[in-house]
Amino acid sequence: MSNPPSCDFLPVNTFTVDQAQIRILQTIKPIKESETLELTQALGRVLAQAIIAPFDVPPYRNSAMDGYAVKSQGQTQGLQQFRMIGKSFAGHPYQGSVGAGECVRIMTGAVVPEGADAVLMQEEVIVQGELIEYQGSVRLKQHIRHPGEDLAQGSEVLASGRVLNAADLGLIASLGIGQVTVWRKPKVAIISTGDELKPIGQTLNAGQIYDSNRYTLRGLLQRLAVEVLDIGIVPDDPELLEATFKSALQQADVLISSGGVSVGEADYVTRLLEQLGQIDFWKIAMKPGKPLAFGRLGECAFFGLPGNPVSTMVTFLVLVRPALLTLGHYPVKPLAMTQAKLLSPVRKAVGRQDYQRGICHQDDTGQWWVQSTGLQESHVLRSMSLANCFIVLAREWSNIEEGAEVPIVLFEGLF
Ligand code: AMP
Ligand code: MG
Repeated sequence: MSNPPSCDFLPVNTFTVDQAQIRILQTIKPIKESETLELTQALGRVLAQAIIAPFDVPPYRNSAMDGYAVKSQGQTQGLQQFRMIGKSFAGHPYQGSVGAGECVRIMTGAVVPEGADAVLMQEEVIVQGELIEYQGSVRLKQHIRHPGEDLAQGSEVLASGRVLNAADLGLIASLGIGQVTVWRKPKVAIISTGDELKPIGQTLNAGQIYDSNRYTLRGLLQRLAVEVLDIGIVPDDPELLEATFKSALQQADVLISSGGVSVGEADYVTRLLEQLGQIDFWKIAMKPGKPLAFGRLGECAFFGLPGNPVSTMVTFLVLVRPALLTLGHYPVKPLAMTQAKLLSPVRKAVGRQDYQRGICHQDDTGQWWVQSTGLQESHVLRSMSLANCFIVLAREWSNIEEGAEVPIVLFEGLF
């Protein structure tokens, strides 16, 4: 890939967040394989085949009201009388035919019997034993639902690409269809790299920390329809890294590693990745999360995220998440921004798009307010845990005063 253009605020070899997003999405192609699922397992999945109505819905003429099915016969004025000859209840149709001056007691949804062409609402008739009296004109087809009125046989009910919601599942069930063909879930392998990392359950020696990134990443991934392959921790050892990456990329559509892409440490990772595939090391004008490795290892897309826990989360949400959505055939929308007023000033240097952690609320008038969580360093994972939004500060902005309007991205639904 060629070098990004430079601009006023952008050092050479550095991408803006937007440029990085576009470049990543240009490389990612949606999954080609589909799978067939029971309807009960299909919530939130993407249809790979349209749903076609196998029959008319409703399948038969039925009543829209509780009342009486009659033959209207063009009778228009005055008092009309109908003799009750039977009943048609839901699931128990009347077997005979309705003639002039006759009626059948009918319930909502029940089959309108042969001969009948209108339904009188029960609230509009007077019942005199076996006789029903009705004042006024009867409109042909009144209160009758017709076959195919909702869906005609052979028509497309849901298009391919539809993300199935609860209403869709019911709609498909109403057609007697019990299985659907959806795109298979992308397989995403996660790897933590670093000599200092220990798995939970082992004692920490001097200079060691517990690996938290795999837990954060797993949580972020669980909000998406992907299959997670947890590869574990790999020390900063070229041979082990190579063996692990090679085996992971056989199994996954996407490989996400964290750590080992910072300056000074990246050398052998760079060499290894260049050996294995086409990988670019990018500087991105974002904070946190400046260094990132992205590219392809054979069929597998690779994201080398920075190891600092907040950087891992921010780069995942801003750069990896859209790629995974694309892979899974989901629509990719930018993270939804809301405007909020700052409750306290924020510090910022010109040059990078800053994703500060914020705590926001909406007041009675609907106005959003936001304040920083305080500590903003990229190793302070607690700032992500305390926060309920990002305060997104554009690259060209510097310090911002209290009371100023800033864009925020609510975390709800993201992780
Ligand atoms: P690196 O990107 O490898 O230079 O790591 C940057 C910082 O993030 C270092 O302080 C690492 O110890 C820390 N770090 C890297 N990976 C993890 C992880 N999986 N869990 C927690 N901290 C990590
Ligand atoms: Mg490291």
